[in-house]
Amino acid sequence: MTHILDGKMVAAKVKKEVAETLKANGLHASLAVVLVGDDPASHIYVEHKNKDCEECGVFCRTHWMDGNFKQDFVANYVQSLARNNDIDGILVQLPLPEHMNAAKVLAEIPPEKDVDCFTTANIGRLYSGDAFLKPCTPAGVMRLLDEYGIPLSGKHCVVIGRSNVVGKPMAQLLLDENATVTVCHSKTENLRDICRSADVLIAAAGNPGLVTRDMVKDGAVIVDVGMNRNADGKLCGDCTREAYEVSRFYTPVPGGVGPMTRAMLMQNVMMAAANRRGLDLNYKGEN
Ligand code: NAP
Repeated sequence: MTHILDGKMVAAKVKKEVAETLKANGLHASLAVVLVGDDPASHIYVEHKNKDCEECGVFCRTHWMDGNFKQDFVANYVQSLARNNDIDGILVQLPLPEHMNAAKVLAEIPPEKDVDCFTTANIGRLYSGDAFLKPCTPAGVMRLLDEYGIPLSGKHCVVIGRSNVVGKPMAQLLLDENATVTVCHSKTENLRDICRSADVLIAAAGNPGLVTRDMVKDGAVIVDVGMNRNADGKLCGDCTREAYEVSRFYTPVPGGVGPMTRAMLMQNVMMAAANRRGLDLNYKGEN
């Protein structure tokens, strides 16, 4: 019997928790979103973030900038947001226009306001077991697995993808829960057999149809992080429907990992706001 891991439902629960915790602590959290240029997908993502903030009672302001601006101007602007004491979290919507070096712009975000967990300092803390903010997508996957009581300790978890945003931090968070982790990538040999030995298979390749039925062990858990468009322009993950069918649990696309990523951003803004005020929230979803 196959069940879904309902990211939409759990994300709504997390956002409600955030809203209630903020209210109970009289905490006013604020997020600054920097949006550069006219990429339509980025505009939609930022709209979603504004909506999430509204739901959670987080003050959110989007700072839009012309895509032709010089990198230094954008970096200096982020620096000014960093100095602004009223702002708890800063998020630079990626991708930036091609003429900009994203790492240089992101480097202007101080770790305590780095709600995406992209700065070197926060990544370092994550890998040394001392994370205070965790990257939203992997943290969202962990919360979703936890909500459904999916055991990880001693289990073989296979992560397809080794990006800094998803694959690598995902592997680290699984390791922190005592999973035995294998990370695969485009040069991995024998991907099929490695995936077939997974108790939990996390696909984050951005490659529609990559994970087929013969790559999934009967009763495995599939987390499909992929967000792709199929030939009909419909949103789809990295796994085929037939692959989902042999699993015990899987995350649908849409409605699985995506909403969890958004919810974890709200949690990070709240944690950043509390941390800046030296407040211990005693928050149950605290990661
Ligand atoms: P990325 O930076 O492009 O990384 C993709 C990774 O997958 C790379 O490590 C790549 O290997 C590996 N890969 C690609 N094709 C492969 C293949 N055929 N076999 C094995 N490995 C393969 O992408 P990303 O930022 O990590 O994102 C991955 C996917 O997740 C995308 O679809 C993205 O849209 C989605 N995503 C979703 C959310 C969400 O909230 N749902 C959030 C973030 C990302 P190499 O390193 O060897 O190139």
